[in-house]
Amino acid sequence: MEVPRGIAIVGGGIAGLALALGLHRRGIPARVYEAAPAIAEIGVGITLLPHGMREIAALGLADTVLAAGIENRESAFFNRFGQKLFAEPRGKFAGYPQPEVGIHRGRLHGILLAAVRAQIGADAVTCDHAFVGLDQTDAGATLHFKATSDGSMRAPVTADVVIACDGVNSAVRRLFYPHETVAFTGINTWRGVTRHKPILGGSTYMRIGSIKTGKIVVYPIVNDIDGSGDQLINWIAEIETDRNQRNDWNQVGDRGDFLPIYEGFKFDWLDVGALIRDAETVLEYPMVDKDPVDRWTFGRVTFAGDAAHPMYPRGSNGSAQSLIDVRVLADLLAAGGDPRAAFAAYEAERRPATAEIVRTNRVSPPDIINLKVEELVGDRPVDNLDAYISQDELRELSDRYKRIAGFSVDSVAPPP
Ligand SMILES: Cc1cc2nc3c(=O)[nH]c(=O)nc-3n(C[C@H](O)[C@H](O)[C@H](O)COP(=O)(O)OP(=O)(O)OC[C@H]3O[C@@H](n4cnc5c(N)ncnc54)[C@H](O)[C@@H]3O)c2cc1C
Repeated sequence: MEVPRGIAIVGGGIAGLALALGLHRRGIPARVYEAAPAIAEIGVGITLLPHGMREIAALGLADTVLAAGIENRESAFFNRFGQKLFAEPRGKFAGYPQPEVGIHRGRLHGILLAAVRAQIGADAVTCDHAFVGLDQTDAGATLHFKATSDGSMRAPVTADVVIACDGVNSAVRRLFYPHETVAFTGINTWRGVTRHKPILGGSTYMRIGSIKTGKIVVYPIVNDIDGSGDQLINWIAEIETDRNQRNDWNQVGDRGDFLPIYEGFKFDWLDVGALIRDAETVLEYPMVDKDPVDRWTFGRVTFAGDAAHPMYPRGSNGSAQSLIDVRVLADLLAAGGDPRAAFAAYEAERRPATAEIVRTNRVSPPDIINLKVEELVGDRPVDNLDAYISQDELRELSDRYKRIAGFSVDSVAPPP
């Protein structure tokens, strides 16, 4: 029987890999068990906000991540007629000590995985291990896994403690909350990436339209994709609807289900319908989260990342919060003593903070700017926006989200 003691991390996503790296930097051994038979660079885009990039910098990976992605210069909000409602500088352009970066999720994952393998060892991540159960005593925990590839049981693994980083559908969390389900907002999303010439200068994060009449978020994630100067553009279409497929991140979508809504989004600076039509693949994902729970730690087990606090992906904040979780955990575990006490201190710090973000993402996410303007003006072009709402009021909506989400400009510490 394989007997690696120490820390068992279930799930080799952003949180699990960053946790393994953070623990290793503090001299603590850990092993990652990942359900996927092999780790592939899949998915579409993700935005790393400055507080997330700070954690990436603490792992020594800021330059690599920045080189693989695109630094956002500004964030801009438009109505579905292509009129700019509000814009603000982002990242270093807004005075943060860290940039805001749009990157292909697969590339980010690949960078973290390469760092884990280079720094900890080729066997630090064990694939094809889907967590299925756990026994714990006062002395330690025994984890049970099945091979994803053929369904056979794997040899049990023992560890001192277990950290669940197995994402929104966490199997570890299900042991403690067996009847819990994801909460669906009534918003469905379709995502894709398209090769396209740079839009509005090539470093703008764009939110266009509202979820009531059709919203699409558009941002670049790779520069000069084929040597012709084109970028890889990430887009996420979000629409209020009862449609609610299972939340599988790799579920393929059909553009016929939503493209008609966007065919009319034709501006002199972007043809949204063409952007969707030209995408290589389309993925479908319902916007889901989970109600915040009262407890993350059960003896020798705790949760981190999306397993702990899945949130609506409306504020580009899930990965940053996951990265902060695992840094706090690593610091507390490195302080020594009973790891169960470290888990309790971690939970006391992180659970209330992330619960507030989950709630804010439900009622007052950043795209409230688009909704607010549509509510005030109606679903029509506007030529005197100031008569309805001032730029300062729109800025306050944006700043309020940043304060709650933990990345107001004065709260992000400089790079370590
Ligand atoms: C559509 C969408 C867009 C998003 N956009 C952004 C964004 O722009 N910015 C941002 O910061 N965040 C964004 N997020 C959120 C962000 O992706 C998550 O918060 C982040 O990936 C959480 O990392 P994680 O490691 O906790 O979970 P995941 O990245 O989901 O990783 C979980 C890992 O656990 C593995 N696993 C699952 N079950 C088991 C099991 N039983 N046994 C072993 N392993 C298992 C999975 O295979 C996976 O590798 C977005 C989310 C969605 C859905």
